[in-house]
Amino acid sequence: MQVFCKSSGEQVETCCSVCGQGFALYWERQSKAERTKTLREIEKTLRSHHYNQAGPEAHPTRGFLVPDGKGPVAFSGAAILGNAPSWAL
Ligand SMILES: [Zn+2]
Repeated sequence: MQVFCKSSGEQVETCCSVCGQGFALYWERQSKAERTKTLREIEKTLRSHHYNQAGPEAHPTRGFLVPDGKGPVAFSGAAILGNAPSWAL
């Protein structure tokens, strides 16, 4: 289960607990249990972005996958099946 996260001011589904930046999430597939588990994973990843920066600039501006996948984000199942807008990739 992978999810594509993109910093966003709209469609915000989760916020960084460190800097408060909102993120839109594009899910590959979802059940309630999976979402809860993955949201925790996302939270951990967001915090890890802040290892040397405190502000929202610590997050990748082009979006990122959780868990981190191999290969280009544009070809990930999460981006394709989650209908991530092409401008976000
Ligand atoms: Zn943050």
